[in-house]
Amino acid sequence: MFAMHLIFIPLQEHALQELRRVLPEPGVVSTDPDELWGYAQSVYTQLPGRPHSIVVHARSTDDVVKVVNISRRFLVPIVPCSGGTSLEGNLSAPESPSICIDLSGMDCILEINEADADVVLQPGVTWTRLNEILKEKNIPLFFPLDPAPSAAIGGMIATGCSGTNAVRYGTARAEWILNVTVVLPSGEVIKTRQRARKSSAGFDLTKLFIGSEGTLGIITEATIRLAPLLPTRVAVVQFPDVRQATEAVCDFMTQIDRGVRVHATECAELLDSVLMKGLNMASPDEGWSEKDTLFLKFQGSPSAIHETSEVVKTVCGKHGGTGYRLAHGETEAEKLWDLRRHAFLHAAALRPGARGWAMDVCVPVSKLPDLIYAAKEDITALNMIAPIGGHIGDGNFHALVLYQGAEEMNLVEEITSRIVHKAIALGGTCTGEHGVGTRKRHFLPIELGQGTVNVMTSIKRTIDPHNLFNPGKLYPDGHA
Ligand SMILES: Cc1cc2nc3c(=O)[nH]c(=O)nc-3n(C[C@H](O)[C@H](O)[C@H](O)COP(=O)(O)OP(=O)(O)OC[C@H]3O[C@@H](n4cnc5c(N)ncnc54)[C@H](O)[C@@H]3O)c2cc1C
Repeated sequence: MFAMHLIFIPLQEHALQELRRVLPEPGVVSTDPDELWGYAQSVYTQLPGRPHSIVVHARSTDDVVKVVNISRRFLVPIVPCSGGTSLEGNLSAPESPSICIDLSGMDCILEINEADADVVLQPGVTWTRLNEILKEKNIPLFFPLDPAPSAAIGGMIATGCSGTNAVRYGTARAEWILNVTVVLPSGEVIKTRQRARKSSAGFDLTKLFIGSEGTLGIITEATIRLAPLLPTRVAVVQFPDVRQATEAVCDFMTQIDRGVRVHATECAELLDSVLMKGLNMASPDEGWSEKDTLFLKFQGSPSAIHETSEVVKTVCGKHGGTGYRLAHGETEAEKLWDLRRHAFLHAAALRPGARGWAMDVCVPVSKLPDLIYAAKEDITALNMIAPIGGHIGDGNFHALVLYQGAEEMNLVEEITSRIVHKAIALGGTCTGEHGVGTRKRHFLPIELGQGTVNVMTSIKRTIDPHNLFNPGKLYPDGHA
């Protein structure tokens, strides 16, 4: 520890002087304590973050190159931040002094290629802003990946995000990202490929950066694909228990996968009975039955929506679903979907004063009931309250563990660990969409196998030999 101080403190001061020399404009380089704390963690973080020593507000790829070159010269680690909504401690500083590079100001849309249904944009553009701009310009296209509303393209690519629309549109790991421009730890700028829809020119380097959590390169530009904007309708249906709700989803999703019908399903979201109780406590006027509930979204022409809705209603009925309700108009649909969107916020009412720890794992859809039942047993055995919800249509499970005080953190860790182990045993993953960050690193060898982790870490060592890009994240200890 003493040796680290001898090495890093002077280097950090030199780095600061050099940053101020190459980026002299006011406000670009900051050591303001409030700002340093502001970038230590996401506003939603469940993990207490550690502050960086310097924050740099980048305005261009050139700025990023300058910062990376200084980071390398003085061996000061660097952590990129775009929207700041990540949940797994992804933005926290390492133990040694570090630079946080804030890309939220690089928020320009550089090209909208309507004929090709793609856009070229900077990493600080949020998906919500992009979709607003397309709407304002009357362009009937949208970007379907929908994590937290203020998540931005750079962080969304870096976490391999998805969201409620994944049932129909898949995740960031599908074909939505055509290319990225990246500043490597060497200071070199590369663009992973051209804008063409498809390419067989070598292996897919774009994918190397998807889910790399800022550990391999800093994304300063991307070309992403857009989807046609279609009318949507929302439906709600309630079930006697989670197993029947899940079986209903499996049943109608299998029909989609086989291409038989129900092709208009866009989202299939589960709110368990505890989460529904939270909704009632937060808004008593709603008067929901406190049952396991599916919130569904259909998308397409009126006839496709009608056909899909009829099939889904019948399938749900077969599995014990009751009270099937297809929203009549935009207002009702928006109101219902808002309930889904804010369900975990309302869940705070279940334990006033508690903090929430959002858990994220994913299993093959048919295994979801087993996971949920095991999770509920663990939560009850440990005497905790943890409503369960998730993107049931793709097997993505979230529980919000409500805890108070440091002593209950052990219970949160215990529940997390049990649920992750169970998910992996069921053929799933320790994270469906939030990423690995700091606390899930040790699950990677269990989930992926040591050989796979070794390949990942040897790529990391080759690209970032001094381990300067977001150290302490993603790779298990001793691996980077
Ligand atoms: C209320 C709420 C709901 C959420 N729902 C979802 C959901 O449905 N689906 C989902 O997937 N996630 C969800 N999340 C998590 C979060 O929104 C996603 O992880 C999102 O993709 C993070 O994007 P960001 O821009 O905020 O990233 P940041 O928090 O800024 O960064 C995330 C990671 O990416 C790295 N990074 C950031 N920018 C760059 C860059 N330009 N180049 C390289 N690396 C970079 C960072 O170092 C960090 O490791 C939710 C979060 C909240 C708070």
